[in-house]
Amino acid sequence: MRTPPGVSAEDFAAAIAAFQAVVGRDWVFTSDEDLEPYRDAYSILWSEPDERIASAAVAPLTAEEVQAVMRIANDKRIPIYPISTGKNLGYGGAAPVLSGSIVLDLKRMNRILEIDERSAYALVEPGVTYFDLYRAIQDRKLNLWIDCPDPGWGSVIGNALDYGGGYTHSSYRNHFDAHCGMEVVLADGEVLRTGMGALPGARTWQQNKYGYGPFVDGLFKQSSLGVVTKMGIWLYPAPEAYAAGVIGVPRKADINALVDVINYLENTVTMQGMPVFASPFLPLGFAVPLPPGMPSSDASVVEQEAYAARTNTPFWTVTVSYYGPPEVVKAQWEYTKKKASAIPGASFSGGDVIAMPPKPEDLTGMLSKSPFGIPALSIFSIGARSEHSDPTEGHITCSPIIPRTGEGITEAYELIQKTAQRLELPVTVLTPPIGCWARTFVILVMMAVSHDPEKNKRTRTGFRELIKILADHGYGEYRTAPAFQDDVMATYSFNNHALLRFHEAVKDAIDPNGILSAGRYGVWPRHLREKKS
Ligand SMILES: Cc1cc2nc3c(=O)[nH]c(=O)nc-3n(C[C@H](O)[C@H](O)[C@H](O)COP(=O)(O)OP(=O)(O)OC[C@H]3O[C@@H](n4cnc5c(N)ncnc54)[C@H](O)[C@@H]3O)c2cc1C
Repeated sequence: MRTPPGVSAEDFAAAIAAFQAVVGRDWVFTSDEDLEPYRDAYSILWSEPDERIASAAVAPLTAEEVQAVMRIANDKRIPIYPISTGKNLGYGGAAPVLSGSIVLDLKRMNRILEIDERSAYALVEPGVTYFDLYRAIQDRKLNLWIDCPDPGWGSVIGNALDYGGGYTHSSYRNHFDAHCGMEVVLADGEVLRTGMGALPGARTWQQNKYGYGPFVDGLFKQSSLGVVTKMGIWLYPAPEAYAAGVIGVPRKADINALVDVINYLENTVTMQGMPVFASPFLPLGFAVPLPPGMPSSDASVVEQEAYAARTNTPFWTVTVSYYGPPEVVKAQWEYTKKKASAIPGASFSGGDVIAMPPKPEDLTGMLSKSPFGIPALSIFSIGARSEHSDPTEGHITCSPIIPRTGEGITEAYELIQKTAQRLELPVTVLTPPIGCWARTFVILVMMAVSHDPEKNKRTRTGFRELIKILADHGYGEYRTAPAFQDDVMATYSFNNHALLRFHEAVKDAIDPNGILSAGRYGVWPRHLREKKS
C-alpha cells in the first residue's frame, strides 16, 4: 500500500479507519484496482516514477462529512486533494498534484439545492454535472439555459474553479465570473460562506457576489486554500431567438480591423455569442493534408492571398452569433454588417433568425451543441482514443493568453509555429484564437501524450521551453497540467515573484500544516518548499 509522503504506515492506517467511520467503509478506496480511475488518463508522466498517483480516495456525502475528513487529515498531517467530478483531462484529470495525497472525491455530493427561475441562478454541490443541471431544468420545464464547456460530464463547480469557459452569451461564458457565492471548508475543517452568504439567513447569496469587505472568492480559484462544497451559478434566461452569420475578409492584414470590429460589437454587447475565427491558412497541427493547390501555412503572404483571390476564399472568417428577441437579433446582425462593411472586400453570409428552443434540424451537422447550452461529449473525439490522434492516449495543452488584436494573433501564431517546429513538438491541434473571454484570446496548442516514456520526456522538455519563450514574449498560460504548474508559476515573476510569495504567505496562514492540494498551480506549503530548496 502506498502511503502519503512523510506519513507513517500507522498514522495512515489510523486515518483510513477514521475516514471509514465518517463516510462508511464503501466510500474509502485503497486498493490498486479502486485507485486506477484516479490516475490521470492523459498523464505526460504515465508509468514513470514521477507520475502523480493517489494513495487512497475518500468520497463524502455531505459538507459535514467533508469537515470531519479535513479535521482527521489535519490531525494526522495527511495531504488531501479535492476533485468534483475529476474530469479535468488535459489538466491533471482526477490525480493529485502531490503524489501520495488522498483524493477527496466529491462526486457523491451531487444535489442541486435550488434553481431560481425568476432570478436565474442555481445553487449546486460539487458533484453536479452540466448534464445534471441541464436535465433538471428540462424536467422542471424552466425557461433557463446553462452555459457549458464541451465535455458535459464535468462539474459546474470543478470547471468554474479551474477557470473553465463555455460558448453562449458573453456574460456567462467565463464560468468563474458567472459564479455567485460559495460555501468553503478550510483545511482545519472550519466552514465559511462568501459574499452575502456570511449573513445568517441571507436572501441574496446568489444575487450579489461581493457582500461586505474584501472579495475572497478569488482565493479559491485554481487554489489550494479550501474545499468548495456549494456554489451559486448564474443561468441565462432562455433566449427567444438565435442567429449566426459569417463575415469574410480577403487579405491577411484585414484581421486587424476585423478583430477591432468584433471587440467593439462585443464590448457594447451588440453581439453576445462567442466569435469563432478561422482561416484556411492557419497551421492546424502539422500533419493536416492541404487541399490541392493550396499554399502551406508557412508559404508567403503573396502566394496565400493570390490563392485566396483565385478561389474566392476569404483569408479570414469570423462567425458571429446573437441571442435575444427575434427583432433585436435581426437588427444586431444588420448593424454588424454595416460596421464590418468598412473593411474593403468584406463579405457576409448567414444571419437567419432561428426561433428557440432549437429544433432537431437546427442541430444537424453541429459538432458541438454548446452554443445552444446543450451539454454533450461529442468533442471528446478530437482528444483521445479516436482516429484524429496518434498516439491516442490523450493530450496536454499549452494555453497562452494573447491580446485581442489582429496583430496579437499574427505575432503569437508566428512565434508558436516557429518554436513548435524548431522544438519538434508533437502538436496535433493548434486552435484558432478562442474568444471565450471578452477581452483576450486563448490559443490551445494541443500535444499528444504517449505511453512511451522517451517520447513523453521529449515533449516535456519542449513544452517547458515553449512556456518560457511565450512568457518572454508576454504571453502567460491560464491553466496547465500538473507536470508544468511550477514552470508556469515561475513565469509570473514580477518583483522577485511577489505574487507567488503572497500566495505562499496566505497558504501558510490558512493551511499551516500544508495538507490541502499541495503544489497546485505551483503553490507549495512551507514544509515541502523547504524540502525542495
Ligand atoms: C476534448 C476536451 C475538451 C475540453 N473542452 C473544454 C471546454 O470547452 N471548456 C473548458 O473549460 N474545459 C474544457 N476541457 C477541460 C476539462 O475537461 C473541463 O474543464 C472539465 O469540466 C474539468 O473537469 P471537472 O469539471 O470534473 O473538474 P474537476 O476535475 O473536478 O476539478 C478541476 C480541479 O479543480 C479543483 N477542484 C475541483 N473541485 C473542487 C472543489 N470542490 N473544491 C476545491 N477545489 C476543487 C481540483 O484541483 C481539480 O483538480 C476539455 C478537455 C478535453 C479533453
